[in-house]
Amino acid sequence: MAIVVKKLEKIYKEKRGADVRALKDISFNLPDTGMIFILGKSGCGKSTLLNILGGIDGFDGGDVIIDGKSIKDYGATDLDAYRKAYVGFVFQENNLLDRESVKANVSLALELQSERDNGGKVFSALESVGLKDFADRKCNRLSGGQKQRVAIARALIKSPKLLLCDEPTGALDSETGAEIFNLLKALSKSRLVVVVSHDRESAEKYGDRIIELKDGEIISDSLPTDAEIKTEEKTEKKRKGLRFTRAFKIGAGYVAVRPVRMAICLLICLITFTLVGVADTVYAYDRDRALLYTMDAQDSKCYAFGKADIVENNRLAMNLPKMSYDEAEELCSLLNVERCDYIYGMGLGFGHFSELNGSLDKNDWAENTRIDKYIEAYGSFLTDYGYTLLSGRLPETVTEVALPEFLFNFFKTHGYKDGSKVLNINSYADLLGKTVSIANPVCHQSFTVTGIIDTNFVYEKQAKVLFEGAPVYGSASGADFSNDMYNIRTDAIHASIFVCEGYNEYFLENFNDPYREIVRVIAPYKGSDKQKIENIRVYTTQYGGKPVSEECGNCYHLVNYAAVIINDADRTFSVIKKYAVYAVALTVVISVLFFSYYVSGTISEKRREIGILRAMGASRWDIVKILACEHGIFTVVTLALSTVIAVVCAVLLNAAFFSSATEAVLIKFGIRQFVIMSAVALSAVAAGIAVPLIKLLGKKPVDVIADRK
Ligand code: ADP
Ligand code: MG
Repeated sequence: MAIVVKKLEKIYKEKRGADVRALKDISFNLPDTGMIFILGKSGCGKSTLLNILGGIDGFDGGDVIIDGKSIKDYGATDLDAYRKAYVGFVFQENNLLDRESVKANVSLALELQSERDNGGKVFSALESVGLKDFADRKCNRLSGGQKQRVAIARALIKSPKLLLCDEPTGALDSETGAEIFNLLKALSKSRLVVVVSHDRESAEKYGDRIIELKDGEIISDSLPTDAEIKTEEKTEKKRKGLRFTRAFKIGAGYVAVRPVRMAICLLICLITFTLVGVADTVYAYDRDRALLYTMDAQDSKCYAFGKADIVENNRLAMNLPKMSYDEAEELCSLLNVERCDYIYGMGLGFGHFSELNGSLDKNDWAENTRIDKYIEAYGSFLTDYGYTLLSGRLPETVTEVALPEFLFNFFKTHGYKDGSKVLNINSYADLLGKTVSIANPVCHQSFTVTGIIDTNFVYEKQAKVLFEGAPVYGSASGADFSNDMYNIRTDAIHASIFVCEGYNEYFLENFNDPYREIVRVIAPYKGSDKQKIENIRVYTTQYGGKPVSEECGNCYHLVNYAAVIINDADRTFSVIKKYAVYAVALTVVISVLFFSYYVSGTISEKRREIGILRAMGASRWDIVKILACEHGIFTVVTLALSTVIAVVCAVLLNAAFFSSATEAVLIKFGIRQFVIMSAVALSAVAAGIAVPLIKLLGKKPVDVIADRK
């Protein structure tokens, strides 16, 4: 390790007042081993010189040549490598990482070179400074002399060829000081030790050579060597950086150094990230998808399509407009399903369903039943739709009918009218064989009940919100029943009667009902398939009081229990969408600013430590790694929390629209939201770190240690 210092100049530029020429025309050569003292009064430039030798400070003139190569030709990485591999620093204030153990402080020097302590290097380094029993002690619980010895052990562990000590005994009593000097003296047998001191007595006692400075100039050199320094062969420089695990550990140690500030920052970031997640969840709202989500949640077994009618009070009307055969066929082919069935209505709202007893009593509940729909249940109808036969069988002739369980419950509550008698209906079997009729005078017909079908009407999941109180069979009043029937006819299947194959032809031949028409096209629903309803453009998104047909011509509309209420959600979400962007932008800006403020705070908090790491040879990249780990941990934790909150928010938002229904899913927090949230979080954190980090890395290590601007 041959060092040649040539006409070295260092000028501190002062913004106010005259510049300080800290070093003037300094020249000397240093040998490979021995203990060299640089002596001088305070302020004469000793530290400046030492820092330049150690590569943690720059200079303004002259040159420092290390192993034949000018330090001026070193790039930033070369300098890092030089500090890392060749130089050990011991400062007046020992500059240990106080919160870490003795062992950790010493092994860190190794780890900065990506080396692990396999052969007990740390132990022997500690032993050589007489501290082998203190390995696990925290540094802030050591005496001054012990700390200084840790600092020396730390400098020693990488077997530096050059040990630079800046007033290493300055803070110690003379006895402890002597111990340190003896230690350094012993070490100087095998390496070059440069000690800066103002203690002439010690210098004369321990030094092999004394270079004395005054006002930045050499005034004496006890053993000037002018020997021509030959260029040694270059030793392979170690450039590997800090291991990730170690950087992670150091970073993790920094996270909660300032818990209150961290908590505030966490809160702000939490709000922002959550808002981003929730905003995009709402943004991704799509009524088609919402319908399917909700159908899934409601455990629906069939699609039910009607023809979109007019718009009333911003709601698609739930009336049952006519659909022609052509339209129904088109709809089926658009759906592209294996099975497609039509539900026929017999005179809208005018059908009556009960045993007719000669006269129609206007006040009779039978008057208001509005059973006016039939569907041909043939072939594998039950299995295709996932329905079950609760009792009996499917109809086989045009005078037979199977009833949905919904209607069975109606009879169970109100009884079956047989003339003036009312028979109790308690079991499914009680209803089998009974006669029921379509009460529409135009197409009056009687049927024998052959079976009861479970059409999967789940009040709690599907229709709770529609019924005020209990459904249908809860009330004996005709008006209530009428109301409930209005509600349940939404997808029509639960309120239809099931007739045999070919019944429709029979109906056409025998009755001339001007109102008979297709009111629903149904198909088995086997879980979300957005494609299917996308083809159909089930709804238009605009329906500001205009007829839907104005916007989409032949619109069909999916009628399920979800559909009834989804219009409200539609309007609310469009309002939220409009303002969410601004809210998100604002909070993101706020959190980036605050995060930046927080990061600069934490960086200045640990500036000294970072400076020490730099002096020990940590490269800029190592520092970036450590800070990235620190804030990475913060970000991951915040992100995880925000995700949980956002998911909960989405659930609550869904619930808000369906306060009385249990099953409705309009929006879902999904992968896309998580990705967007993560992207925003990472960029916000990166943006927050960027400025303070660039500032920090732009500084010379010496300025970082001294915490200079
Ligand atoms: P010593 O270590 O011998 O006490 P220094 O090398 O620290 O002396 O300082 C030498 C001179 O340079 C002093 O006059 C000091 O005030 C000045 N100096 C040191 N560092 C700075 C700095 N960063 N900015 C301005 N002046 C400085
Ligand atoms: Mg000094």
